[in-house]
Amino acid sequence: MPTETIFSKIIRKEIPASIVYQDELVTAFRDIHPQAPTHVLIVPNKLIPTVSDVTAEDEAAIGRMFTAARKIAEQEGIAASGYRLIVNCKQHGGQEVYHLHMHLLGGKQLGRMLPQ
Ligand code: AMP
Repeated sequence: MPTETIFSKIIRKEIPASIVYQDELVTAFRDIHPQAPTHVLIVPNKLIPTVSDVTAEDEAAIGRMFTAARKIAEQEGIAASGYRLIVNCKQHGGQEVYHLHMHLLGGKQLGRMLPQ
């Protein structure tokens, strides 16, 4: 069994978080250290540690992460100006929390995707 992270507690509402969207497959909440005016994390309710652990069974939840991203971008008023979706995977990807999540960032002109 994969080890739970703080995100499971947020999904179950056992600890406080600024939840902006939740349904039966995914939960989205504001990042505690925002790196843009809008910085929301979209996570599957099921504990999937990394992209490397995704299976065909997870395709509905992974697809829902994208439709949730579109809805949240509209709610946040950044759909027209645009935004960036990022998924970090393991050490070289810079993943800190081992509960799969998508960063939704926007609300300003973002810089280069990778430092030169
Ligand atoms: P990553 O480096 O892709 O694993 O990103 C993990 C993100 O989770 C970071 O941007 C953190 O700021 C964020 N984070 C960690 N703990 C919390 C929390 N309790 N509530 C909201 N965001 C968090």
